[in-house]
Amino acid sequence: MAVGLVNELTPGERRGRPFPPPRDLTAAATEGLRTGYPGHREVTAAEAAEFAEVAVRLRAVFDAVAAEDVDAAALKVNDLLVETRARPLLQRHDGEPWHLHFHGPGGTMAGDWAASCATGLAIVLGSEFHDRLGVCTAPQCDRVYVDVSRNGTRRFCCTACQNRVKTAAFRARGKGP
Ligand SMILES: [Zn+2]
Repeated sequence: MAVGLVNELTPGERRGRPFPPPRDLTAAATEGLRTGYPGHREVTAAEAAEFAEVAVRLRAVFDAVAAEDVDAAALKVNDLLVETRARPLLQRHDGEPWHLHFHGPGGTMAGDWAASCATGLAIVLGSEFHDRLGVCTAPQCDRVYVDVSRNGTRRFCCTACQNRVKTAAFRARGKGP
């Protein structure tokens, strides 16, 4: 979910092209949420604006890890955990079985998701997999990812970027002496 929100809502570059701030913030925020929950309802304009702010905070965590500054990443996550008052609570609603929530009661939707995303990132950073948060290393791309590969060697946000880099390397070899 954190990856979806960052990649849909924070400007920068994507797959070799500029990625400007989304013109339709509501659609972008909804798209980000649906990367985690395909059936998520469409958000309101006010919620989308709040999600955009959350996404900037989440991106900073990925950026810090990519810059090998895990200390900074941990401090940023701690700030988010405190601000969102994230804590585990078992809940049962809408006919679902008991499941864990990580947000305080009565928050906003974006605040609740910020708490959940901060908790998720905290679990990654507090484990041996703390370097599994990444920013795409392809040229002109800064979309983020979580590396869940077995050996932890992922470097790109998507196969499109991976292929772009492979093709460029192949062409560079072709032009060699
Ligand atoms: Zn990429």
